[in-house]
Amino acid sequence: MKRSMMCGEVRANHAGQTVVLQGWVHSVRDHGGLIFIDLRDRAGIVQVIVNPASAADAHQIASDLHDEYVVEIRGQVERRPAGSENPRIATGEIEVHAQQVSVLNPCLPLPFPVAEEAQVDERVRLQYRYIDLRRPRMVRNLELRHKVNKYIRDFLSAQGFLEIETPIMANPTPEGARDYLVPSRLHPGCFYALPQSPQQFKQLCMVGGLDRYFQIARCFRDEDLRANRAAEFTQLDLEMSFVEQEDVLGVCEALFTGLTESLSTKKVLRKPWPRITWQEAMDRYGSDKPDLRYDLPIVDVSSVVADSSFSVFSGAVGSGGVVRGLRAPGAGSFTRRQIDELIELAKAQGARGLAWAVPGPELRSSFGKFLSEGEQSALWQAMGARAGDLVLFVADRVEVARASLGALRRDVALRLDLIPQDVMAWAFVVEFPWFEATPDGGLTFMHHPFTMPFDDDVHLLDTDPLKVRAKAYDMVANGEEFASGSIRVHRADIQSRLFELLGYSPERIQSNFGHMLKAFQYGAPPHGGIAPGLDRVVGVLVDEDSIREVIAFPKNQSVQDLMMGAPTEVQADQLEDLHIRVVEPVTAS
Ligand code: ASP
Repeated sequence: MKRSMMCGEVRANHAGQTVVLQGWVHSVRDHGGLIFIDLRDRAGIVQVIVNPASAADAHQIASDLHDEYVVEIRGQVERRPAGSENPRIATGEIEVHAQQVSVLNPCLPLPFPVAEEAQVDERVRLQYRYIDLRRPRMVRNLELRHKVNKYIRDFLSAQGFLEIETPIMANPTPEGARDYLVPSRLHPGCFYALPQSPQQFKQLCMVGGLDRYFQIARCFRDEDLRANRAAEFTQLDLEMSFVEQEDVLGVCEALFTGLTESLSTKKVLRKPWPRITWQEAMDRYGSDKPDLRYDLPIVDVSSVVADSSFSVFSGAVGSGGVVRGLRAPGAGSFTRRQIDELIELAKAQGARGLAWAVPGPELRSSFGKFLSEGEQSALWQAMGARAGDLVLFVADRVEVARASLGALRRDVALRLDLIPQDVMAWAFVVEFPWFEATPDGGLTFMHHPFTMPFDDDVHLLDTDPLKVRAKAYDMVANGEEFASGSIRVHRADIQSRLFELLGYSPERIQSNFGHMLKAFQYGAPPHGGIAPGLDRVVGVLVDEDSIREVIAFPKNQSVQDLMMGAPTEVQADQLEDLHIRVVEPVTAS
């Protein structure tokens, strides 16, 4: 028989019709004669009743059913008796009275229930992902993911973008991680690299005159896993020719505002989205991915306390550091224990200590006694502090002050319950530094090496590279980074100079990037792009903390596929074909 409709689609207007349904036994209950089956497919659940008086054979089969058996039911749709409707499910007005029940496939005892939203160990879920995918939460997440992809495709197509696929087996393109390598059988000793991103190809699409490119692209980065990163992930990669920064940001802003508003219940907090310089983000919010759902700005009070009698403050300023503060409104009631927790948090970010005060008629403070009344009131005024607030200060190197106050800002917002959950505070962070210093005294890129420096800063490349700003931008929301992008270098001379400053040898430049430098000399247009991480976008829209919840078949934290058993050893002859010999790692004893 062929199914006549999906289980989740039966409605009151089908009453009286005979239907054929196929699906999984979500649950089965024997109510002393009558057997009730909740039958489920992707569309939802419908209640089936098997009555021994009217369908003896069907009842016989139904009495042997267990959870997750795959069955076919033929029966008549009837309205439920008044009072027994179930408004919580879309099929809740009706029930199906079975005439025939057949088992299409039985099911072994389950490793975890599908029917209950029980907490199940993630390892077990990933090992039996095909069962996990049947759970309503996963169906909802993957349906949303599909809608996001479709929205993106429709939106960008309407804006003249072409969806273009680029190779998976390619050569290395640096995004700051290790490459996954694929050995070549035909070229012994040579390897392809899986793309860390399609960066070079999309730029070459622009050189190829394609003007506006996008791809829902799989990227691979062999890095030590940090929370919410995957070795294999999906990004919306896009690139545009003859554009400036605002053109790229404008497309992103319209796309992600639309996505948020049409596919989630969240509101976009500010329109147009704020553009914040990296410097301001770091100084005011202590983070390059500031959470703008709440304000709580960090305030620099160095000039107020430069000559303070409190030597911790004046000493920090005197030695080139800063004194910065955070006002926690109304947190003057925090207990000593809560304040100690804040101190520990600041120390975990490298701060030597945390000075605190609760201004008011009876000042409570770790340092107040070292300041004159005049100094105190100047400080409270600079902080905008009122009686009953808690003010926190870090006196340290600027990097330490940023990191520790940034962490405190998040923590205080949580403690004071200042974070609205139903909004997306989208924003762009712009004007990143091009370089950052490496621990060994060298330079590395902050975004990637194809980013155009600010025109006004190009002259600093040779004299003061750490001051060079990049035409790079991040798309952030709610304290997370969702995308990075930049206006690209399209001139071979600037690109070569940047590679040199990164310390790449002429041989490496030639072998890894010679093709780019060559292409730039054949009429490369000015271009730029961005690449939002889709797993994260879908995750935030459905309020999932882990991106594994929005990926159908994710790897675990150790980059293993527990269901398929990957990675795995391979046959010796396969290695032979690939000219590869495995050297066992030497384990330190
Ligand atoms: N390729 C960059 C990345 O994957 C994004 C971009 O610059 O477009 O982060």
